[in-house]
Amino acid sequence: MTDAADPRGFHMTSDEFRRNGRAAVDWIADYMDRIESFPVLSRVRPGEIRAHLPAVPPAEGEPFDAMLADVDRLILPGITHWQSPNFFAYFPSNNSGPAILGELLSAGVGVQGMLWATSPACTELETHVLDWLVGMLGLPSKFRSDGTGGGVIQDTASSSALCALLAARERATGFRVNEVGADGKLTAYASSQAHSSIEKAVKIAGLGRENLRLVEVDGRFAMRPDALARRIAEDRGAGKAPCFVCATVGTTSSNAIDPVAEIGRICRDEGIWLHVDAAMSGTAALCPEFRGMQEGLDLADSYCFNPHKWMFTNFDCDCFWIADREALIRTLSVAPEYLKNQASESGAVFDYRDWHVPLGRRFRALKLWFVIRHYGVEGLRHHVRRHVELAQKFSDWIDASGRFELAAPVPLNLVCFRHVGGDEINRRLLERLNAGGRLYLTHTTLGGRYTLRLSIGQSRTEERHVSSAWRTIQETAAELEREG
Ligand SMILES: *Cc1c(COP(=O)(O)O)cnc(C)c1O
Repeated sequence: MTDAADPRGFHMTSDEFRRNGRAAVDWIADYMDRIESFPVLSRVRPGEIRAHLPAVPPAEGEPFDAMLADVDRLILPGITHWQSPNFFAYFPSNNSGPAILGELLSAGVGVQGMLWATSPACTELETHVLDWLVGMLGLPSKFRSDGTGGGVIQDTASSSALCALLAARERATGFRVNEVGADGKLTAYASSQAHSSIEKAVKIAGLGRENLRLVEVDGRFAMRPDALARRIAEDRGAGKAPCFVCATVGTTSSNAIDPVAEIGRICRDEGIWLHVDAAMSGTAALCPEFRGMQEGLDLADSYCFNPHKWMFTNFDCDCFWIADREALIRTLSVAPEYLKNQASESGAVFDYRDWHVPLGRRFRALKLWFVIRHYGVEGLRHHVRRHVELAQKFSDWIDASGRFELAAPVPLNLVCFRHVGGDEINRRLLERLNAGGRLYLTHTTLGGRYTLRLSIGQSRTEERHVSSAWRTIQETAAELEREG
């Protein structure tokens, strides 16, 4: 079929798209089926992928088959298989069939959802699904959109923290910093175990890193409320203006859970914005038995978690809620003439461009909606519980082993452990395990000691993968012990 606008057939026709699309979906299904055959951690050296790519782009178009073949030949060797059931590194970034297909449809309609008017469904589905999640996760109803609050999908938890901090900064200064810039007095607080994105947000928001207080933690690596209160009092005494506290539910390093209720009471009494970062662990709140970790959340001004970590929704998808959306909108809103429209002016709609840093936005709610509808709440709970059970089993094995010890409590799905033989053997153990390709683990330091982390959250991780990881860890440790 020829097209008057494209007589030489540069575009992919809808028939070609159908054929190639089926091949691409087949490729993904085959990839899922054979994923355990690849070394989990990519083995390429720096520059190796580029060295195999042509120096210049093709002048004439190429067939789709050739591209797909090159994905196998040139790209797969440089992939670290995050979707492998033997991926236990960092935190999960899992996916699922419905999420991938939702992402595909989002690309297909290709809308840009900056304003309600630029695609009403993009905004309304997002608001609706985030209201669903308030109920699904047992979050305070003040985060729902039918009161003063509401939810929005951000790219990452880092962006959520930044938006929360910006709104906190403006609320604390009567929206003055937006107009005249900061004066170096505002201070922010997070525990010494908080994610590095808080430090980044403090830098971007212009508070200055010197005005971020990393509050001391207790023996379980959770923020000490007494230390927070003391830091705030010291700062007030020195003429500073405390404006923002970030509590973490499930730290990246060790899954520590800050005492949100106690921190929340301090923030309420001091008039300080409380943001709660539950990027990975927030998913566990799907199950009522794990909701104790978020007790006190009714005292928070904002909250986020990442379905793109542990809730089977492929990257990127961070859900961010705010109790007083006007504070955020007033902080971020700019209204150039070319974006003015009746719906916005009527005040009857949300324009999500005012809820995050970028103007443009993808239709990310579609994949989240597909995931929730495909699994149902019970299906999601089933998988979360299974992951937590597997982590608890692994931690029991560690406890009983004699050769290994737990380095931190295991509230959910992350196990921090180490060989009792000291930092050096743990370092060598990690290196050898990851070079072997059968699994992938990462490390942290806790109490100054080198610690291995086994994070369980891959969509298809089963008991056989965890027990095989434990066997491999023990055998490799025994090898190293023999080598001395
Ligand atoms: C992973 C993580 C982050 C950062 O996540 P992004 O979405 O990649 O920005 C922040 N906080 C915690 C507690 C995390 O686990």
